[in-house]
Amino acid sequence: MACRAYPIIVHPDVRRMLMDMKAFTEGGRAFVYWTALQGDLEQVSPDQHVREKAEDRMTLLTPVVKGFLTDRGFKSASDALQLHGGTGYTRDQGIEQFVRDARIALIYEGTNGIQALDLVGRKLAANGGRAVFGFFNDLEEFVSSNEGDKDLKPYVEGVTLATGQLKEATMWLMQNGMSNFDNAGASSHDYLQLFGLTAFAFMWAKMAKAALAQKHTGDRFYEEKLATARYFFERVLPDATSHLAKVKTGAGSVMALPADAF
Ligand SMILES: Cc1cc2nc3c(=O)[nH]c(=O)nc-3n(C[C@H](O)[C@H](O)[C@H](O)COP(=O)(O)OP(=O)(O)OC[C@H]3O[C@@H](n4cnc5c(N)ncnc54)[C@H](O)[C@@H]3O)c2cc1C
Repeated sequence: MACRAYPIIVHPDVRRMLMDMKAFTEGGRAFVYWTALQGDLEQVSPDQHVREKAEDRMTLLTPVVKGFLTDRGFKSASDALQLHGGTGYTRDQGIEQFVRDARIALIYEGTNGIQALDLVGRKLAANGGRAVFGFFNDLEEFVSSNEGDKDLKPYVEGVTLATGQLKEATMWLMQNGMSNFDNAGASSHDYLQLFGLTAFAFMWAKMAKAALAQKHTGDRFYEEKLATARYFFERVLPDATSHLAKVKTGAGSVMALPADAF
């Protein structure tokens, strides 16, 4: 049965949840494939330079893939329950089981808190920051080779903005996290979220580019891809600004209370 048979889908707030889920699922799938491609290149490329770059990306992005996708995957499962209202909460729909199943992924294979500490404590500093600066290069190369394309402009601008915010957060951590590790620990969750959003901006801009190249076919698949890319840049990526602001407050208010206050 087609989805449009359900009248609930006319409500904009239900659409918001569906679009959040769609932008997350398709962006996440692209991010996982792109990272897995780095794993393949690391293993089989005959070029030593390509193998090294691929290994850097794979190592850097592993905690981001695990932490960001499982955090947002749980949110997606929860939204799927929410848009069914009370029936979603009951066992009859089956969605409450997805919510419970998705929840464990934030805990096992390294809790997401530990993934975030791995990112800021080990992955950023490794080899003098070679991997993170290499990732910035990937983003900047995409921007410089596409900034003349007026159809791609909103997406390229989104990547530019997110890259600038991620660089600012990285510099803040390098200056304030090494001298006081509580700053790194307190900011690590928001830094990982900002990293994930920036990686998604990169993926969505790449997908928009591929969809624009096929737009002339009139295939609905590409129109839907472009509409979802627009949604991501307008309605999801702005979260990056709040994560950057939180990173830069460091440990101050997080550690203000004594342990016996909890
Ligand atoms: C259903 C299920 C299946 C599992 N399957 C397996 C399995 O097959 N194999 C296996 O080996 N394990 C398995 N586990 C265990 C799982 O890997 C652990 O639960 C997980 O690593 C978290 O450890 P913990 O439960 O001891 O929590 P803790 O380590 O006590 O963590 C509690 C909280 O403190 C935070 N925290 C902990 N240490 C630090 C730190 N140093 N700095 C900052 N924050 C910190 C964590 O992020 C977390 O939020 C499973 C768990 C569950 C629930």
